[in-house]
This record gives sequence, C-alpha cells and structure tokens, in this order.
Amino acid sequence: MSKTIEKFNEHVMHSYGRYDLVLEKGEGRGAVDENGRKYIDFGSGIGTNSLGYCDEEWAEAISAQAHAIQHTSNYYYTKVQADFAAKLCELTGMKKIFFGNSGAEANECAIKIARKYSFDNYGKDAERYVIITLVNSFHGRTMATLSATGQDVFHNYFFPFLDGFVNVTANDTADLMAKLEENKGRVCAIMLECVQGEGGVIPLDKEFVKAIREVCDKEDILMICDEVQCGVGRTGKFLAVEHYGVKPDIVTLAKGLAGGVPIGACAAGEKCCEVLTPGTHGSTFGGNPLACAGGNVVLDRVSREGFLEGVNEKAEYFRRKLSELDEVEGVDGLGLMLGVRLKTKKASEVCKACLENGLLILTAKDKLRFLPPLTITKEEIDAGMKILADILK
Ligand SMILES: *Cc1c(COP(=O)(O)O)cnc(C)c1O
Repeated sequence: MSKTIEKFNEHVMHSYGRYDLVLEKGEGRGAVDENGRKYIDFGSGIGTNSLGYCDEEWAEAISAQAHAIQHTSNYYYTKVQADFAAKLCELTGMKKIFFGNSGAEANECAIKIARKYSFDNYGKDAERYVIITLVNSFHGRTMATLSATGQDVFHNYFFPFLDGFVNVTANDTADLMAKLEENKGRVCAIMLECVQGEGGVIPLDKEFVKAIREVCDKEDILMICDEVQCGVGRTGKFLAVEHYGVKPDIVTLAKGLAGGVPIGACAAGEKCCEVLTPGTHGSTFGGNPLACAGGNVVLDRVSREGFLEGVNEKAEYFRRKLSELDEVEGVDGLGLMLGVRLKTKKASEVCKACLENGLLILTAKDKLRFLPPLTITKEEIDAGMKILADILK
C-alpha cells in the first residue's frame, strides 16, 4: 500500500469512499499518479477543473495574483473581485454577486436572501419562510442545504433539520400547485437544479420549469436556480436555465467557476440584489483574490467566440460515442453533463475498472456520470471511449 494512503488514513477523517489512487500532477485534460501513470479524466475533478489541469494561462493568473496580493478581508475592496463580479453579472444576466467558497455556501446565501426578502416585504408575522425544493435534488452538505436536499440518503443521523423546506416531485406541476396551496402565502422561494446532478443527471421538463417561473411571478416567490454543477458552460450554454427560456431571480454557481480553486457565487437579479445589507451575511475567504484570478480566466475563456459552440460539438460527439456502446441502455443529460444507464453492469464496478485502466469517470445514483473538462479534445474523447468500450464489452 502507498505510504501516502497509509498516512492519509491515519490522519484524515474517513468521510469519503476513496479509490486507492494518489494523484500528484495534472497534464492537459488528465492527471498523473504518484507512480507516473497517466489517467484521462472524464470527470474533471467533479466538474471543477473546467479548463482541464493546470491550464497555462489559468495557472499564470493565480501565480501572478499570489505575488501581488493573496487575500484581504472583505472590509476592503480588490480589483480582481470587482472584475470577476462584473463579468459574472454580464454572463448570468444578474445584477449583483455574493462570493463564498463552495456550492453549499452559495446556496446558503440564496436561502438567506429568500428568507430576508420575505421578512423585509411581508414582515416577521407572515411566517413566509417556506422554500420548495425537488425530490431527488442535491443542494449541499451543510445543515440548511441538507434540509433543502430532497434525498433521504443524505438525511440519516443529522436530525433535526431546519424548518420550512417542502419537497415537490420533479416535473409534477400538479404536485407543485398542491404544495403551494398547502403552504399558501408562506412560500418565499422555489429552488431547483435544471439538470439534477447527484440525482442522476436528469434534465427537468421545459413545461415544469416554465410553470415554476409563472407561479413565482404571480405569487412574488423567488426562483432560485442551483447551477453549482450544471452552470458555467457545462451544458453548452453559460447557464443551464438558458435552455428553458426563463430567467431566475437567483443563480448559484461553484464547481467549475474558478477552474478548480474554491469559489461559490450567489448571483441575484434586480428584485433581490439589495436584500443583504452590512452585517447580515459574510464569509472570511469569500471572493478570495486567488480564486477570483482563476475565475476571471475561466469566464474569459468560456465567453470567447466559438467556445460554447465547441462544447456543443464535443457534447454531441461524446453522446453519440456513448450511445454506440452495446451495454448502454440510454444517455441522459445536456451538453457535457451526461448520465449513462447501463443494461447489466453495475456503475460502481465499471467506474473502478475504468480507473484501473487509466480512465477517471464518476457515477450518480446507478448511472455512469460524465463531466469532462470543457476543453477536452476529440482525440481524448476517443482514447477514453476506447477504454470504456473495452470494459463494457
Ligand atoms: C456539488 C453541489 C453542491 C454542493 O457544492 P459544495 O461545493 O460541495 O458545497 C450544491 N448543489 C449542487 C447542484 C451540486 O452539484
């Protein structure tokens, strides 16, 4: 057994089911282990390394920022955070950003904004604090975001949860209307992933998302899109919700946003971008200059002409390649966020076999999950598919 793994297991809490693999370096769209063996990465971390590993321009920007100023408290301003926020507003169509360090924190911020929005506009006595989320959703591991998450498997052990979260079955407009009726006048927000990630890479129906937008407009409810996994070009548009032709009131982003350094962003539109006032929310590291420097490179790259068209082309190719495999029952998802249903094999076993053969992939529920770097090349897709095809034979 590797010395690193022994040391690790002695000193790091055992909260993850880890593979016996120590990664030491990144190269292009792949990683290299401590023995120098290369792996193609069809998971890009977990959708974090959106530009692949150690992209030259990205690494330079972070390095230059580390030499300039690595952090200041949020009592002061930095140019790099201002630049990043401005770009993010432009790309999301939102008005203002709050920065944290993770997806869960971005969602915590959205939850706090929703509750305070209602408090400010309807008063404390209205108890208008209910947030509707979807069955099979995933919103994070902190207590509030776990309360929001509509999957019981994450809920064991940690009771009691926060009050005021109600789950609706995805794509079931009748259920949505029934739950709104049951909680009449008390709902402040509806939170959704346009493509459920951890839940199994499942895009929501257009009609359902449109119905949410309509009812939110009618009842002055905030529509929150959790784009922590499906945002930042992952589905071939900057935001997955753009595929649905509606505009949310709040968008949360994290995973791929800064190319693999910790970041979380809660972007709010006109209606609620002034809800947080001094003293109501904060984060010591939120909007850290190193993260913002990395994020600026990601946003510049993703908004470069032809970049998203390239993502769409590669996505189509990737999906076709997957569909051609005999063992594949079906391919779900959008853009470079794909879930594969298998006919007979177990996803977790396929994942392990891929790793042993130099290919890193992910699973979600009982599916294989693919979140390759947005910069992956056709040649790399072919090389990874060859490994996968051999295993699925
Ligand atoms: C990963 C994920 C989160 C949680 O992000 P962390 O950075 O792990 O806190 C929240 N929502 C969605 C949709 C995610 O995929």
